[in-house]
Amino acid sequence: EVSPAVNFIRHIIDQDLETAKYEGRVVTRFPPEPNGYLHIGHAKSICLNFGLAAAYGGACHLRFDDTNPIKEEDEYVEAIKADVRWLGFDWGANLFYASDYFEKLYQYAVALINKGKAYVCSLSAEEIREHRGTLTEPGKDSPYRNRSVEENLALFEKMRRGEFADGAHVLRAKIDMASPNLNLRDPVMYRILTAHHHRTGDKWCIYPMYDFAHGQSDSIERITHSICTLEFEDHRPLYDWFIRELGIYAPQQIEFARLNLTYTVMSKRKLLELVGEKHVSGWDDPRMPTLTGMRRRGYSPAAIRNFCERIGVGKSDSLIDMSVLEDCVREDLNEVAPRALAVLQPLKVVIENYPEGQVEYFEAANHPQKPEMGSRQVPFSREIYIERDDFMEDPPKKFFRLAPGREVRLRFAYFVRCDEVVKDANGEVVELRCSYDPETRGGSAPDGRKVKGTIHWVSAAHALPAEVRLYDRLFTVPNPGSKQSDYREQLNPESLVKLSGCRVEPGLAEAAVGEPRQFERLGYFCADRDSAPEALVFNRTVTLRDSWAK
Ligand code: ATP
Ligand code: MG
Ligand code: MG
Repeated sequence: EVSPAVNFIRHIIDQDLETAKYEGRVVTRFPPEPNGYLHIGHAKSICLNFGLAAAYGGACHLRFDDTNPIKEEDEYVEAIKADVRWLGFDWGANLFYASDYFEKLYQYAVALINKGKAYVCSLSAEEIREHRGTLTEPGKDSPYRNRSVEENLALFEKMRRGEFADGAHVLRAKIDMASPNLNLRDPVMYRILTAHHHRTGDKWCIYPMYDFAHGQSDSIERITHSICTLEFEDHRPLYDWFIRELGIYAPQQIEFARLNLTYTVMSKRKLLELVGEKHVSGWDDPRMPTLTGMRRRGYSPAAIRNFCERIGVGKSDSLIDMSVLEDCVREDLNEVAPRALAVLQPLKVVIENYPEGQVEYFEAANHPQKPEMGSRQVPFSREIYIERDDFMEDPPKKFFRLAPGREVRLRFAYFVRCDEVVKDANGEVVELRCSYDPETRGGSAPDGRKVKGTIHWVSAAHALPAEVRLYDRLFTVPNPGSKQSDYREQLNPESLVKLSGCRVEPGLAEAAVGEPRQFERLGYFCADRDSAPEALVFNRTVTLRDSWAK
């Protein structure tokens, strides 16, 4: 069970329970618009809404806020459901679509017209904008503001019947063109839009605006606490106005600060552009802040939930450092990921005093602190690969790995000493000739001599070739797109590095797609969905430590 830490919203709910404001009910909702994939910001809202419902024994509805036919698609509906489930939440029978309320919303609009609280306005969009005024200047009444109820009813019905072109008329609430809150200056409730809707097809050619649909949907579903992000604070008076004028059940809107993360973007428009303009390979590109991208990269749902818990829920906007998220991922994977040996940039090592053709197996613990995770047999032979970085021909004093004449410990195996360096015609090191000490099997010397370094390796004859994809921040600046900059120009050209010719221990052939492993000394990895038995592909989920220069 996931229950959120105490936050200001819980205090509000506690109070409402005390005063029996909602007869002891707690009903929240997560209301995505199906116009893109969910990102880590949505995860904050999901964890909050489903977490509160769980904590209070209430319910959380999944409602698709599908009132804008132009941008919405079934593909997104299905992806959003899959992502919410993957994060670990279940809406049970509480699946709703705002589009299911179109008829009811239409009737609400008719009721407001009858009350003299809504009118059909025939100004153009441009003219409506001009009439709206500014923060310092009151708006001007529309010349259509005083149309009679009968005329408004007749026009609104004709709008619905498709007798007008797009943009010819709108339905507006009749509130106050001089209100200091611009949202109350006769906001548009309905517009004419000849567009096919992913669920209602061509049944409608008028569609409700967000502000007219959202609160009424909350009311229809008898939501108690309608939790949204801070930019809707100025819309709350309008939310309350519609509900009061309609005389219907009143949920409480509560605003919280949205999640912003460094080195990424989260607006769906920008994410769509990244995909559409092919700056990334798709919505599930492992560099994307989308849940589907994070899943592919190897982030676990538990890590994301812990992250949402850790950052808390507050009232002021902030920018959370990406490293906070990565720390949560490391903490979780450290617990659950079995260890494995893999060499990303192989350097061949021939152990000259090891018998040719001989193979022996070392028992390797799958987790150094968790014997219950078992062990595996790792093959060892005369020719192995080590990491190119673990050898230096001319090392500084503090380099404790392999160098000419120096001895190092091979993880789980023996001490080896480098006797000779083999180079190609360009002077590049291509192979090391080493000798091993058979007395050091298991990693210590009977004569008590010490080696400082332990390096990883794989047996050349047994290892499997693999491609490994290393990911870095998608952008080079903490706040891409800020201060009039174009976020596209701040893309990190090195955010993806593909290493081919890596060598991994044979057991990794069995790693299922997405299943985490720690490659010792290198980080956490998982098999990518591109991986095939004859062509393994691994993603680096995250490094072992925060190696990123700030
Ligand atoms: P965009 O403005 O990029 O289209 P959106 O907020 O409109 O995104 P929705 O699908 O409407 O996207 O969002 C569904 C829910 O997720 C909303 O209740 C919204 O408040 C919440 N949400 C979206 N982004 C964030 C974020 N960065 N932090 C917290 N909650 C978020
Ligand atoms: Mg949106
Ligand atoms: Mg929205």
